[in-house]
Parts: sequence; C-alpha cells; structure tokens
Amino acid sequence: MASEFDLIARYFTRAAPAGLLGVGDDCALFPVPPGEQVATSTDLLLEGRHFFPDVDPKALGHKALAVNLSDLAAMGARPIGCVLGLALPRLDEPWVAAFAEGFHALAAAHGCPLIGGDTTRSGHDLAISVTVFGAVPAGLALRRDGAQAGDDIWVSGELGAADVAYRLLDGQYPTDPALLAATRDALERPEPQVALGLALRGIAHAAIDISDGLLQDLGHVLKASAAGAALRYADMPVAAALAGVADAQLRRAVLGGGDVYQLCFTAPADRREAVLAVGRKAGARVTRVGEIQAEPGLTVLDAGGQPMAGLPRGYDHFPAD
Ligand code: ADP
Ligand code: MG
Repeated sequence: MASEFDLIARYFTRAAPAGLLGVGDDCALFPVPPGEQVATSTDLLLEGRHFFPDVDPKALGHKALAVNLSDLAAMGARPIGCVLGLALPRLDEPWVAAFAEGFHALAAAHGCPLIGGDTTRSGHDLAISVTVFGAVPAGLALRRDGAQAGDDIWVSGELGAADVAYRLLDGQYPTDPALLAATRDALERPEPQVALGLALRGIAHAAIDISDGLLQDLGHVLKASAAGAALRYADMPVAAALAGVADAQLRRAVLGGGDVYQLCFTAPADRREAVLAVGRKAGARVTRVGEIQAEPGLTVLDAGGQPMAGLPRGYDHFPAD
C-alpha cells in the first residue's frame, strides 16, 4: 500500500528545470526575471460540480491544469510552474497514475512544471486545487479593464461544443453518441490558448478567458472597462459539430455555454491585420464578433441587425434568484 509520501514521490515528483526548486522542500523556489511581474491564479475543481465522478482521470489531470493555464493565457503571461492540492477520498493508485499522466503531459507541453502541492485524505468527495504562476513584463499584462470604445471584439477557437457535451452527459439532452463523440473533447480536454495570449501583448487592449459563457465573461470586461458592446450572432465561430443542434439550444451553447477556455479579447480596429497574423502564428482561429461601444449595455444583433431577446445567462455558483 502506497503511503502519502510514496504517492508524491511516484506521481508528483519530476525533475525541476535548472534554476527552480521543485517538490521536496517546504517551499518551491523560482526566479522572476527583472522587470517582470508574477501572474498567479488558482482554480478549485470539485467532484459533482466541475466534473462527473466517472470522468477519465487522465482527461481530468489535463483539465485541472488547462483551466489554470487558460487564466495565464488571458493575462498574456508566460507559465513558470504550478502547485497541486489533492483531497482524495480513497487511495486508487491507477486513478492517481492516470491523473498525473494527463497533468504532467500538459505541464510539459507548456513549460509549466509541477513544483509543489499538498496531498490529503478527504472525508468527502474528490477535490482538486491547482495554482499557476506565470511572468509578464510589467505593464504588458492583458487586463479586463482596458477595452476602449471602437475596439473590435474577437473570440478564439470555436464556441458551443463544451456546453452541448455537458448537457448530453448530464442527461438534459436525449442520448446522441455521435454528437457526444464530436463534442466531448471540447469539454474534457480544453487546450489553453497560451501562445495566443502571449502574442496578443501590445496588440489587445483587454482579454478574458471564456469559462462561464461568452456573454457573462464579456460582461466582466465591459464592467471593468466602463463600456458597452454589440455582438453579431451570425459572425460567431460555432463549432462545426453542432450543425444539427436546434436553434434555441445552439444559441444557449454559443452565447451562454461555459467551459470554453478560449479567449475573448478586444483590439483597436486598425490592428485587425496584426490580430489575424498572430492568430496564424499561434495556430489559433480568431474571429471578429462585434465591437466595444461607449454606452453601457450588451446587445446581440441577429442576422437582420435586430437586437435578440431572451439572451442566456452564464454560469453562476450563487445565483441571486
Ligand atoms: P508540508 O508538510 O510542508 O506540507 P508535505 O509533506 O505535504 O510538506 O509535502 C512534501 C513535498 O511534496 C512538498 O515539497 C510539497 O510541495 C510536495 N507535494 C505534496 N503533495 C503534492 C502534490 N499533490 N503535487 C506536487 N507536490 C506535492
Ligand atoms: Mg503538506
């Protein structure tokens, strides 16, 4: 039977890159290049709330880190390293091994080594907490409060697939194996847009990652920037897999669906070519979906240019009503 320390040694200890002190001491140590700021963010993932209890552990390891890397991407920060808190209801070693494999694979792909953490037994459900550290030159971070009237609003990647996969798995939609197969990776294996976030420094005025739904997350940018926006529904980059989904469900998925982990950002209209060029360089599809306005409020225009009614709200853990 593996002890807590065997588990850490076997699954969570990897050689740290030169210049970093990783797992094994009371703290990890990493240098911060002169002139740069540390960007840090943490995300908690709870069984039954953020993932289904039977989710593939390798995919869960990937996603636990991906959602955090997505926050670094949204700030234009370069990953340095991460720490992992695990509360395990039971010792299921094959589960831990698969989780660690998914986690380390994404960490290696983004140069974000696991440099510390904490492992405890949980009397309740499984809980996973990841904290990432990144670096960004002082003053260059992509913040939520920089949007300006006249900016274009851009979205990376595609929208809607994760929401549909979630509702299929949750039993809200009738069983559809083909649709689930085509959307499941969007929900369970999101790819954080780190390269795009880095390339947008000096071009984008504001950015956020879409975790709770486009309208809600863009709403945070608008509030922080004291601005409004008009979006064009017909221009949204709808995931190709959703071709057969009914209009009302599609609209909810595209405008309100969470777990997207793509970037929504604003940039001046005279930087359109630059945005397209960095999108190509980062291997990311980037789509212009609307513009920032001086007047507060968020409207979505239909194909005829009319404001759409009954817009979906995004995810809120503590809804007011
Ligand atoms: P402490 O008693 O100081 O909290 P621990 O015995 O909990 O230290 O952890 C020993 C070492 O293992 C520390 O360097 C810690 O950061 C690391 N560690 C513990 N759990 C994890 C984990 N899940 N992932 C990565 N590192 C971990
Ligand atoms: Mg500890």
